[in-house]
Amino acid sequence: MSVFVIVAAGGRGLRAGGSEPKQWARLGTQTMLATSIDACASVPAVAGLVVVVPAADVERARQDAARVSHDKPCRVVAGGPRRQDSVALGAAALPPEAAVVLVHDAARPFVTADVIGRVIAAARTHGAAIAAVPVHDTVKLLDTDPAGAWCAETLPRERIQLAQTPQGFRRDVFDAVVTLGSETADATDEATLAERAGHRVMVVAGDPANVKITTRADLDAAARRVASTDAAGGAAPTPLVPMRVGLGYDSHRFDATRALTLGGVHIPDEPGLAGHSDGDAVAHAVTDAVLGAAGLGDIGGLFPDTDPAWKDADSLGLLRDAFARVRAAGYGLGNLDIVVVCTRPKIGALAPALRASLASALDCSPSAISIKGKTPEGTPSLDAALVVHVVALLTQAASA
Ligand code: MG
Repeated sequence: MSVFVIVAAGGRGLRAGGSEPKQWARLGTQTMLATSIDACASVPAVAGLVVVVPAADVERARQDAARVSHDKPCRVVAGGPRRQDSVALGAAALPPEAAVVLVHDAARPFVTADVIGRVIAAARTHGAAIAAVPVHDTVKLLDTDPAGAWCAETLPRERIQLAQTPQGFRRDVFDAVVTLGSETADATDEATLAERAGHRVMVVAGDPANVKITTRADLDAAARRVASTDAAGGAAPTPLVPMRVGLGYDSHRFDATRALTLGGVHIPDEPGLAGHSDGDAVAHAVTDAVLGAAGLGDIGGLFPDTDPAWKDADSLGLLRDAFARVRAAGYGLGNLDIVVVCTRPKIGALAPALRASLASALDCSPSAISIKGKTPEGTPSLDAALVVHVVALLTQAASA
């Protein structure tokens, strides 16, 4: 059964402010419309799309669609005055083989393949399905009079869900939705029409992140969200919990001709460490841990050791620079746990100074940093080097 998606962007969407419809707002490198088309077209089960936009925007939408439709057929048609008119004009552009039809709001660019897949499966089996999310607040039905609004009734919130898109329908049910839409007053979604036409509509799990961009604040939040994932290489998934962990590792061989620097602290009367920079393996491993947690790559990518600029570099300065990028991507430091494996120096006595130095570079309390020393215990391969392991926990900054 071929699945087609109608991407509905027929409205003017001016509640989000700005001089043009919100579907043309930029989210990172592409428009909101392109992001939504991309999300739907990238699902393998989707065979093709129909995009509905205001008549004036058809040409522009064709250019967007050509870039992100994953080589699937994607027609762009002009919409009508109401939502159901636009959906009907989209329906008229569907090919006969479209056996399951999904309608998705272009204003929900963060829809996932999982949500789309659940709607497709339930629509195939049950004829009609929507994605929806539970409410966590207590829900009041209101009475209003000239004095104001009053609680008339407290609704059972376990029976209440907020409808999202996509909404999916077997073709016969969808045809009934379109027919009823042409005869009826404004409907805010297609499921309402399917219900009125006598069909049972199954509810499947939506996604709280599949928000509808409606206001200027929604748009700003969406742009920030895309900026932080772009900074992370475009591949960082939305974390399930607002924290991320990173692992850092480094080892440098001892070089008695150099001075020893660990965590930015100069340690006299101890053999130094070989390396292109100052050889500060603690600073290097911490840098890799925080960059890794933020999905920003590694120290070798940011400060290549083939670049003369980093010859004898102050590695604590490199850590400061890297951590500024981590902060810019929307993260703060939770804590660091550092293990230094070496025969000398004795890390226990140095730990307070190292913690203070790293805390100043990361602008955090020394209590967020733990340093433990381990001796190689007669492991000969470890005697000639100093080895560092670090785990870093980052938390998402409140504004990200
Ligand atoms: Mg290193």
